[in-house]
Amino acid sequence: MLKPFMFFLLTLIALFPLSVRLPAQAKEDAASAYAKCAHCRKEGFVSARAKNGAGKLMPLCYECASLPRCSFCQMPADVDSGGGDRLCRECAADTIKENAEAEKVMKDVRQVLSTKFKMTSKHKITYGLGSRRDLNLEADGEHNELGWFDPKIIRNKPQYTIRILTGLPRDVFRSVGAHELAHDWMDETLPHLMDKPEIREGFAEFVAWLFSEAEGNKRMMEYTESRTDEVYGGGFRKVRAMMGDAKTAAEWKSILLKEFPLKGKKSGN
Ligand SMILES: [Zn+2]
Ligand SMILES: [Zn+2]
Ligand SMILES: [Zn+2]
Repeated sequence: MLKPFMFFLLTLIALFPLSVRLPAQAKEDAASAYAKCAHCRKEGFVSARAKNGAGKLMPLCYECASLPRCSFCQMPADVDSGGGDRLCRECAADTIKENAEAEKVMKDVRQVLSTKFKMTSKHKITYGLGSRRDLNLEADGEHNELGWFDPKIIRNKPQYTIRILTGLPRDVFRSVGAHELAHDWMDETLPHLMDKPEIREGFAEFVAWLFSEAEGNKRMMEYTESRTDEVYGGGFRKVRAMMGDAKTAAEWKSILLKEFPLKGKKSGN
């Protein structure tokens, strides 16, 4: 009886702060130049270069280079996201902090997924925001969750909720939203795959990656590609290889069904 309730705990998208992965490149072209610091605007020697949200390398002075960095790019952070993250000013300029706005954006993301990839479900979904603490409540403590797909049965009626971390930059929010909506699609279309973490998360990452590509959202594409963990990173590479050029939900469904036929679901693991 517990099992149906187990998998929603596992559908959390785990995104470590993107700034953790500072590439060696940033260090390489640091030093020796004289320029205006992108953070404090003072002229001086460049101590480091940091990628902003658009992926552009920006010069930083010595003082600014030692400040805490943004959760979603490499720039110095001095704004509280309201959800538990620190943001640089640029990432903080357009964040999703209101439930009404979150719902509006999620509906738009769902529409884009339907138009671009014919990925639809009949589920009525409730959308909302949560703090990092809210979203971590049920997690294993190892991950920092940015989103949560939660299917529940209440009095024999299925209910679907998607919650996204409050205060995310808009482009990050949209990509996380696409990931969670991919879970919703799978829950309706291929529920027997929901208890295969690698396929479930790998597929959601694959959809988010295609969605980010369609939106010209380079940082989230790079982020998905750079993940090294088995379930999200490994799952993504596995599903991407499986899907090849398939770009519609109907094709994804038939590829997944061929790989994981329905009758195999009893074997369980
Ligand atoms: Zn997920
Ligand atoms: Zn500075
Ligand atoms: Zn930033």
